[in-house]
Amino acid sequence: MTTLQRIEMPVRGMDCAGCCNSVQRSIASLPGIESVDVFLASEKAVVQFDPAQADPAVIRAAVEKAGYSVPAEDNTGETKGTQPLNAAAFTRAVLFFSGLIFGVVLLIVVAGEWLGLFEAVTERIPFAVGVVIVLIGWYPVLMNVLRATWNREVISHTLMSVGVVAALVVGQWITAAIVVFFMRVGDYVETFTAERARRAVKDLTALAPQTARVLRNGDEVEVPIVQVLAGDTVIVRPGEQIPVDGEVLEGQATVNQATITGESMPVEAGPGSNVFAATIAQLGGLRIRTTRVGADTTFGKVIRLVEEAEANRADVQRLADRFSSYFLPVVAAIAALTYLIGRDPLATAAVLVVACSCSFALATPIAVLASIGAGARRGILIKGGKYLELLAKADVLLIDKTGTLTLGRPQITDVVELNGRSREEILGLAFAAERYSEHPLAEAVRQAGRDRGIPLLEAQSFAATPGMGVEATIDGSRVRVGNRRFVEANSDGTGLEAAGNTLLYVSENELPIGILAAADTPRPEVPAALQQVRALGIKEIRLLTGDNESTAATLAGQLGIDYQAEMLPEDKVEIVKEYQRRGHTVVMVGDGVNDAPALAQADVGIAMGAAGTDIAMEAAHIVLMRDDWALVPDVLHIARRTLRVVKMNFGFTTIYNLLGLSLAAFGILPPIFAAAAQSIPDLGILANSSRLLRQKGRE
Ligand code: ADP
Ligand code: MG
Repeated sequence: MTTLQRIEMPVRGMDCAGCCNSVQRSIASLPGIESVDVFLASEKAVVQFDPAQADPAVIRAAVEKAGYSVPAEDNTGETKGTQPLNAAAFTRAVLFFSGLIFGVVLLIVVAGEWLGLFEAVTERIPFAVGVVIVLIGWYPVLMNVLRATWNREVISHTLMSVGVVAALVVGQWITAAIVVFFMRVGDYVETFTAERARRAVKDLTALAPQTARVLRNGDEVEVPIVQVLAGDTVIVRPGEQIPVDGEVLEGQATVNQATITGESMPVEAGPGSNVFAATIAQLGGLRIRTTRVGADTTFGKVIRLVEEAEANRADVQRLADRFSSYFLPVVAAIAALTYLIGRDPLATAAVLVVACSCSFALATPIAVLASIGAGARRGILIKGGKYLELLAKADVLLIDKTGTLTLGRPQITDVVELNGRSREEILGLAFAAERYSEHPLAEAVRQAGRDRGIPLLEAQSFAATPGMGVEATIDGSRVRVGNRRFVEANSDGTGLEAAGNTLLYVSENELPIGILAAADTPRPEVPAALQQVRALGIKEIRLLTGDNESTAATLAGQLGIDYQAEMLPEDKVEIVKEYQRRGHTVVMVGDGVNDAPALAQADVGIAMGAAGTDIAMEAAHIVLMRDDWALVPDVLHIARRTLRVVKMNFGFTTIYNLLGLSLAAFGILPPIFAAAAQSIPDLGILANSSRLLRQKGRE
């Protein structure tokens, strides 16, 4: 068996989704490649390959052959941030600014001639010199166009470059120069636009801890984060960033977890508390036993999810790609017709330069990236633009109960004795049986056991049935703790469940011996959040719970929503499917622990309070890093706004192109103005989409 190797390779020079695709294709075409993901925002490719057939050098060569560069990485792995201005960058900047100045001067001169302010200055420049000027400015664009053509791709600059050729053929070097000038300005605007939207993701990556102060042989030493291992003791001084996920051994601090949860109210941490990497210890120092480092930490996963979100392209974006692939041939056809009918090379050139299909390609990703970035800063991880689109049209909301609608910190309030057994015996058996369960109810039982000083009995063969309960062998007898069906009890809790309690039945060798009543507090912010959710167009809200009928009825009644009780995890999946069959778009909110299958089945699964729980972060499509129901209407709101902005971007670009194309085809719009006009939609999209970076929120 071969084991796959995974590398992350930085790639420079990509500035649109098309570039990502070509890097992706060139790597994927190599032998022995298992998977390739290319990320625009973080400028890297993640490749899984079979080391017997491929190696990083070959992959690197493929990337370079496709026309992009792979910077040499230093061995600390993650050096990000500002790099000193090197010679190449300096030359580029000088060239760019001289081009800019030259272009502006040329524009002023041309405008001046046109207005009759000066006499024919440009005519004195020989045509050959003009061609050289055009070629200098055109060169990088031309290389891109040729490279794309070589890969059998048509990019928007292809048509504009044909326009430049057309202008030169008819002897209008000034028109060609101005087309080139605006092509370059357009490029710059585009890069700037993409850069802005990526900054949110980059800002996040920049927060990743770089070093840690660890205890080695009794000494405190500062080491790069890659050298920290699980089990190491890490020392964090007041005001410092916590570099790892771990458990507090000593010390007391208030920890600001905003990087993870978006919540700036700090939480208290002391011995036994779990803390997360990239959060900040304020007012107090800590000694922490490391459990996870780097990419395995919750923060590492947040970054990975945000990066992957970018690769998960929205359906609307696929639409955009398809649209551009129709758009370019149509423009070419209009140009051909303009030439054949009007015999007007200038109008033809104008048609070719005015078409700005790149704006179609920009319409969605910038908006989606902006929203994903804005969400991440507030503790909402959105795994892809697709989910924003689905959320915006969702009409059904299904909600899990324990840990979702309630705080998930139930307490045992009553013990009902059955068949002559004492409270201590009942609690003692339940305590031992629940020893390893992760369910909030199990924690309630253990807490009750500890509070009453009940000794922990020896137990073997633990087994949990999700949505039902647990079973263990204690002192040779089979003990079950769970719902009524699981324990096959027929006695009731004498009205305890009507008060909203969850009943846990305890049996020993099939004989019911007691009932524990657990009370959990409903989250206080739920009613207001549900009201907002309704106002945002979700018509049906339904509680799905594994708990008993009367507990569910009590809670659902208080919230004014529908409910279904005594549901197993697989029943919840069935309900989701049933709604989907009837054509609904279903959102499911759960804690992601025992309702992961239903979250995954829903069109949009939202996991609540998921910081630190891996399954929840994996299963859900949208992850809320803190327990706050207000984030649910927030994310619905973000989704709707994003879709609205995307539609506006499309509408604007379409109208603009139609108008520009018609004016150009009829010779009303001279190529010089056509070239200038083509960078306007990009600016419009930039302005419109960046509104999403400023989502309303409680930061
Ligand atoms: P919900 O759908 O409300 O989130 P679950 O599906 O997690 O609830 O559990 C449903 C029911 O199964 C609980 O109300 C409880 O009666 C029983 N149950 C599940 N796990 C356990 C456990 N570890 N110990 C006792 N009872 C359990
Ligand atoms: Mg649950």
